[in-house]
Amino acid sequence: MTRLEESVVDGSKADEAATRQDLPSIDRLLRDTTVAEWVSEHGHTMIARETRALVEELRAEVQASKVSRSILTPESLRLALHQRLSARLAPRMRNVLNLTGTVIHTNLGRALLANDALSHLLKMMSGPNNLEYDLETGGRGDRDNIVEELLCTLTGAEAATVVNNNAAAVLLTIASIARNREVIVSRGELVEIGGAFRMPDVMASAGAHMIEVGTTNRTHLHDYERAISERTALLMKVHTSNYAVQGFTSSVNEAELSTLAHARGLPVATDLGSGALVDLTTWGLPREPMPQDMLTAGCDIVTFSGDKLLGGPQAGLIVGSKAAVAKIRKFPMKRALRMSKLPLAALEATLMVYLRPERVAKDLPTLRMLTRPEADIRRISEMLCPMVAEVVAPRFNVRVESMLGQIGSGSLPVERLPSAGLAIAPASKKGAGRMLDEIATALRRLPLPVIGRISEDRMLLDLRCLEQPSDLTGQLEQLRQQLA
Ligand SMILES: *Cc1c(COP(=O)(O)O)cnc(C)c1O
Repeated sequence: MTRLEESVVDGSKADEAATRQDLPSIDRLLRDTTVAEWVSEHGHTMIARETRALVEELRAEVQASKVSRSILTPESLRLALHQRLSARLAPRMRNVLNLTGTVIHTNLGRALLANDALSHLLKMMSGPNNLEYDLETGGRGDRDNIVEELLCTLTGAEAATVVNNNAAAVLLTIASIARNREVIVSRGELVEIGGAFRMPDVMASAGAHMIEVGTTNRTHLHDYERAISERTALLMKVHTSNYAVQGFTSSVNEAELSTLAHARGLPVATDLGSGALVDLTTWGLPREPMPQDMLTAGCDIVTFSGDKLLGGPQAGLIVGSKAAVAKIRKFPMKRALRMSKLPLAALEATLMVYLRPERVAKDLPTLRMLTRPEADIRRISEMLCPMVAEVVAPRFNVRVESMLGQIGSGSLPVERLPSAGLAIAPASKKGAGRMLDEIATALRRLPLPVIGRISEDRMLLDLRCLEQPSDLTGQLEQLRQQLA
């Protein structure tokens, strides 16, 4: 072992411009006692790769005469290498604090898992499990069996299956029932939910011919009736989850549509989007359609998401009649869209919470936050306000404000959640835009990045989703430094 000191620039010549002769060899660097310790911790491969990259970078900078010898002192070299290693080993996926006011935020990972779901997930992934193994017979099992009975109990369905997400559930439903045939859908329900999910494109991807009926604001039963032909395979309803058409409107409900469809020997599928398994009005929240209601109305297939209002992992849940679900399950595309064991374990535990609906708003973090009393959020806001104000003063003023949040992920877009939080405003009008950028950046650079929203020249931190105040108070000193 050697010390790097023997081979590289010493501190006394630090101000001079570095030359190529001053560059350490990769070999030398690797034999440094401190670096060697890192090699024994992380192995040779990674340390050698990062060392090589560091020396390459330094060589380029030296050639461009961009550096003084100070960055080639042993301490700076070790520090530079250490920083590279830390950056490499820092996960790209990180926790953040969602203070946007949108509880189910797609960009921030949607629903949070219940503790029961986390522990079941961890336990199941730590060893082999009976994913596709029948413990009664010792024969091959079906992964659907893990949640099918639960889903049937909770929704009253005859059968159920699950796939990767709700987009996959819709695609698979249409492809398996209506490929090369026609699907009738109202012009008022041709939703785009963001990303690449647009109903007409999904129909095309599934190989079905979409037959649009009615108009944007009004569709009647006779519109569907007239469009039915021998090429029709499916009548489709789509929950207009992320927009509302108001005024002179009319649509056909699932019960009327099912009566018509069944009289013609056709099935009805409904894409519910979010789909709540419990009646949200119990907690004073707006009513969201429930899969069980759609089945009662006569729908043959209902699809919904696992990580929206359900409060579980990413999943596409498909519930419905025995015949329709069997057709979907048999379709080859199902294999490509099947759910992984990871979310499946979390889904099972999440659904178990619904067997005890009284526990739902306590045990499922997403529902807990959605049902959090406004007074509670305000109390936390009042408590934190002076602490945050002290840290951002004198350039910013902070006060507690009433805010309107959202459920998110397309649920009930026109309904707002009365909430409270901190409004951080630049103290002067001049340069306010730049200062807002600055506070937003400072918040994002915290160890647990804080994501708020900017509105009317203020940074708003809606505290509905702040369940542990220490998540914020514990990093106020870092915020002070960031702003300095
Ligand atoms: C969210 C949503 C989907 C897609 O669900 P994912 O689980 O995100 O794939 C499909 N349809 C509607 C109406 C939705 O709201």
